[in-house]
This record gives sequence, C-alpha cells and structure tokens, in this order.
Amino acid sequence: MSAKIPLAGVIGSPISHSKSPQLHRHWLKTYGLPGDYIPMDVAPQDLELVLRTLPKAGFVGVNITIPHKESALEIADLVTDRATLIGAANTLIFRKDGQIHADNTDGYGFLENLRAGAPQWAPASGPAAVLGAGGAARAVVASLLDAGVPEIFVTNRTRVRAEKLADDFGNRVTVVDWVQAGNILEDSALVVNTTSLGMIGKPAMRVPLDGLRRGSVVTDLVYAPLRTDLLATAEQAGCVTVDGLGMLLHQAVPAFERWFGQRPDVDSATRAAALR
Ligand code: NAP
Repeated sequence: MSAKIPLAGVIGSPISHSKSPQLHRHWLKTYGLPGDYIPMDVAPQDLELVLRTLPKAGFVGVNITIPHKESALEIADLVTDRATLIGAANTLIFRKDGQIHADNTDGYGFLENLRAGAPQWAPASGPAAVLGAGGAARAVVASLLDAGVPEIFVTNRTRVRAEKLADDFGNRVTVVDWVQAGNILEDSALVVNTTSLGMIGKPAMRVPLDGLRRGSVVTDLVYAPLRTDLLATAEQAGCVTVDGLGMLLHQAVPAFERWFGQRPDVDSATRAAALR
C-alpha cells in the first residue's frame, strides 16, 4: 500500500525571498509529519494551468503571493467571504472533488500577531491609523473592523485606492490625504504600516512621525528589516511596537492545519526557523 505524501507550496514571482518554505518544513519536522513544501516561480499566464495540474501531482494546496493574489481569487471555484471582501487570496485548498477553495488568512495573521505582541491593546481603545490601501491594507482593515475598532483612518499615496477601500468597508473607515498622514497619528491608539515603505530595497518611510504618542501601539507589516525605522522611532517615542514577522507566521497556521491535519504552534523556535 502506498499513501501519497501530501505536498504544499508557495506560488509567486519572484519567489526566492519567501520564508514560507523554511517555516512549513520546520512544522513538518517538529510534528513528524510526512509531506513537503515547495517554492514555485510561476508566470502570470501559466497560473491557471499550474493550479489545475498541481492536485494531480499530490498537492493539497498552495500559498499565493505577489503578483498572483488577485488572479488566484478569480481562478478559484469557491471563495470565502473574507477573501471576497479583501479581493485577494493567499491560501488555496485543493479539494478532493477537484475544486479549488480560496481563502485569505492575512487579516487573521495580522490580528493574532498584534494580540501576541501587544496583549494590552484592546480594539475599543481608540481609532486606528492605517498607512496604505493595497491588498494587505484591505486584510488589516477587515480584521480590525471585525475585532470592533470604532474608527479607522486610511491614508494612501494614491487617494482613489483608499477611497475604494472606504467604499467597500463602510462608514467606520475615513480617508485622509497622504500629505496629512502625520496628523492622524496623534489621535490613534494603533498605527499600522501596510505600505512597502521602509522595506529593504524600497524607499524610506517619509511620513512625519512626531505625532506618535506614548503608549499607543505601532506595528509594521514590513519584516525585512525586522526593526524598521518606523518601529525604531515609535520605540523612542514610548510606543509599544510589534514587528511584521509574526503576521507571516500566524497567517500560515490555518493553512498548515488544513493541509497537514495538525494545528501548529507559533513559538520562538518557529520564529528562529523563519529567520534562518
Ligand atoms: P500592494 O497591494 O502592492 O500595496 C502596496 C502599498 O504600498 C500601497 O498602499 C502603495 O501605495 C504603497 N506604496 C508603495 N510604494 C510607495 C511609495 N513610494 N510611497 C508611498 N506609498 C507606496 O502590496 P501589499 O500586498 O498590500 O503589501 C504591502 C506590504 O506589506 C509589502 O511590504 C508586503 O511585503 C507586506 N506584507 C507583509 C505581510 C506579513 O505577513 N508581514 C503580509 C502581506 C503583506 P499606492 O497605492 O499609492 O501604490
């Protein structure tokens, strides 16, 4: 009797930078599970063919990253409500009946990381400021609204993208012009950077940060570097800071559980494995 070894992976382009393979392989090893997790660089025009073929080769699902998060949603046969609202998929499950099921666990990962890194933060503690209005921002806003944050200020370089987000998410979201971004920090109990600013190889964060107030919580989705300039400045201002690596780890938990049948722990060994 030969049982198929379950395979999963991550599809993006480029993909060599992804930390997901070492993360999932660490969990497979920790729990003594059969399986593997493989990075795949796939061109946009090949995505659908690859997704329809992988289940035939023993794949139980894949993570999806830039630039495929929106197209994966269109290709999927079944889509969760949260992925529809966010407009992007980061996790696909290949069902036994041949259908592709799409979900988005970024918001879940964001909130779990925030709760782990800043246990004193409560959704009702005040408004949140979200810098950026891309796919990650939509996942963050969805999760914060779900958690009960009373008001969210969203600011984005391209204003129309922030307005679209506010239209989609309702009247607890207020758009603030990008040039006014510094002004919303003072009134916010939580500040989230969802732009790529501050990431290695990207422009620096230029939003004026003198409005950050002592005791507020500041988190950055950028995790390369781990301690971004935003987090360093926030720390000096007496804020509680949470880095973005934990979001990557926590967003992977529901996927790993669905694919391999074991809910994994996010602990210091998991963090070390992702940083290797
Ligand atoms: P995206 O959809 O491409 O959005 C990029 C965002 O960054 C947009 O708001 C964009 O503004 C803004 N931006 C880019 N360059 C800018 C510049 N020079 N000046 C001002 N704003 C700029 O990407 P995404 O999927 O949302 O990802 C955003 C970031 O979050 C990335 O760094 C990604 O690595 C990170 N992320 C981390 C995790 C995690 O697990 N920690 C998960 C998901 C994403 P415009 O609309 O004006 O272009």
